[in-house]
Amino acid sequence: MSGISLFILGGTILSIAGKASPADSASLLRQAGIDPVGPISVNRWRNVGSQNLRITDLVALATEIERQAAAGTQGFIVVQGTDTMEETGFLLSLLLPADIPLVLTGAMRTADAPGADGPGNLNDAILTVRALCGLALGPIICMNGELHGVRHVRKVDAGRIGAFASPGIGPLGTVVTGRVRLLQRPLPQPGPYPLPEPADLPRVALVSVGLDSDPLLIEAFADRQWQGLVVEGVGSGHVPQPLAAPLIRLAGERPVILVSRCGGGDTDAEGTYQGKGTASHLIANGLIDGGPLQGRKARLLLTILLAQAADPASVRAALAPWAALGLLAG
Ligand code: ASP
Repeated sequence: MSGISLFILGGTILSIAGKASPADSASLLRQAGIDPVGPISVNRWRNVGSQNLRITDLVALATEIERQAAAGTQGFIVVQGTDTMEETGFLLSLLLPADIPLVLTGAMRTADAPGADGPGNLNDAILTVRALCGLALGPIICMNGELHGVRHVRKVDAGRIGAFASPGIGPLGTVVTGRVRLLQRPLPQPGPYPLPEPADLPRVALVSVGLDSDPLLIEAFADRQWQGLVVEGVGSGHVPQPLAAPLIRLAGERPVILVSRCGGGDTDAEGTYQGKGTASHLIANGLIDGGPLQGRKARLLLTILLAQAADPASVRAALAPWAALGLLAG
């Protein structure tokens, strides 16, 4: 493959421990084996910790990737901080066709650390993006010799080099000694959705419920400025009984998506568990079933859906294929 475009957004991969100013990106690229005048074009797009990336930044990036792909660029690499990589990857998967080869990577160790993982990860990302051509897998996170699909992946450790995991399904593939091996394919997902206008992006909140959570937690979202809410229930999507009424009231006014806080597995929409505050009670009373979606991904999906059409019926219809993803009849 020729014609790879690399976007640098910032993060640990370009940080020096204890310093606010970034590391030299030319040195990172050299260590990763990237020839500055070779077939990889480098776009120094942003230079921020990934906690400071905005949804509008990612919409702008998707717009640029789409433009470059239409102009013939065959693969894309995004270099960024790992803290929100699972979210940026998923957001890009909502906005771009799955057949655009796109790999996200970063580092857990700063550029000056002994055994810095950035150059190796970047080199693996280049091998991967070349190998992805024609596979239509959607965006892939390449870290620590593993390839993860963006729907399942989570950053599960704040410090270890092996910080990413895909609970319940494992990595999609590996990169070892320069060999990229696919272990499984992600199921095709709904979308892509039209690129939203920044002014249309709504406020969508994510709230995680826990042992004895106070109903005030939900009442806080009565403010109409919140246009949608995602609730992570315990287990397969249950909430303490006192939260059921405020949630059902909110769901009568605007979309409220219910998911599990576990990070893997499904909501109990089928009703194994019955009674006030169970997932089946909440869904029967207006909450929208998010199925196996992780909360932080559901928040981004709801944001994109609300930017297109704010009425709850459209959102509910758009969520149905996500909740049913992979379900076999019979
Ligand atoms: N705080 C950093 C960031 O997400 C961590 C990293 O780059 O891995 O930008």
